[in-house]
Amino acid sequence: MDIAELSDSILKADRRALARAITLVESARADHRQQADALLSSLARSGRQSLRIGLSGTPGVGKSTFIESFGMMLIGQGLRVAVLAVDPSSARSGGSILGDKTRMERLSRERSAFIRPSPSQTHLGGVARRTRDAVALCEAAGFDVVLIETVGVGQSETVVSELSDLFLLLLAPAGGDELQGVKRGIMEMADIILVNKADGDLKPAATRTCADYAGALRLLRKRPQDPEGFPKALTVSALQEAGLVQVWAEITALAEWRRGSCHWERNRASQAQYWFAEEVRQALLARLDTPWAKARMAELSSAVAEGRVPPQVAARDLLAGLGQ
Ligand code: GDP
Repeated sequence: MDIAELSDSILKADRRALARAITLVESARADHRQQADALLSSLARSGRQSLRIGLSGTPGVGKSTFIESFGMMLIGQGLRVAVLAVDPSSARSGGSILGDKTRMERLSRERSAFIRPSPSQTHLGGVARRTRDAVALCEAAGFDVVLIETVGVGQSETVVSELSDLFLLLLAPAGGDELQGVKRGIMEMADIILVNKADGDLKPAATRTCADYAGALRLLRKRPQDPEGFPKALTVSALQEAGLVQVWAEITALAEWRRGSCHWERNRASQAQYWFAEEVRQALLARLDTPWAKARMAELSSAVAEGRVPPQVAARDLLAGLGQ
């Protein structure tokens, strides 16, 4: 593969080249990894930045409906939109639910849109790395907005928030009075909570739920880097395309504020450091995954169980062996 040519085509916003490049970064083959690294290094010089928006929510809350409506609205404003998915369940089910072809049908037909389902990997770390590379490729291809979608299962939100400039949490109207079982950590990540399905019979419940979350958000620690009123909760109807213009207005207001307050650069810099540390961790873990390391681990593990070697001595022994 001619990497210089591929790089040029991506910079010219060629969507087929972009799709090929993402396939390349998803490959585990050593020669592909090398080519991918060369491509990413060359494209990093473009200096292009998209607005990266993370979006999380449990299945059925309306993520694909929202992305389709929201994406179409952005395209209507002349913006180019890429959609990437981090789907931790794809590893288990073998096929990505986020890769379902019937999702986002209108958006997928648009020339200004690019949709890529989650790579099927065996672990979240692998999916995270590929998604990070895909985000970088979309930025180089000049997309104005990159939406990174994930199913709300906890750990994948952390990955997505480390890839995003801001984070949206999509919720459904609650039936009862109590807040839904949203984990505090996920609430803390959200810049904007969107209570979807605020239409028809569900509208009163959506309005009530939104007020509950607005109250809960006020109790969370205020972030000094954000303007008054953030994080905030809004109601939307992805189905009826209601409230979407306001969501975009809030997103751009927050993004502008952060850009102005140098939080933006600092956030991206600390994300780069997070991924550097993560790469080191993954590489070290991979060294434990060799036949030699596994056999030695089993051997030392038995020695520890029988009390023949103290755990820390066994650990140092193993690590010394890895260094060779
Ligand atoms: P996802 O699993 O989070 O991607 O959810 P989907 O977008 O597939 O939506 C799940 C279901 O909720 C579908 O039947 C949608 O038609 C419905 N839905 C999505 N958004 C809305 C909305 O704004 N209002 C109503 N009433 N239903 C919605």
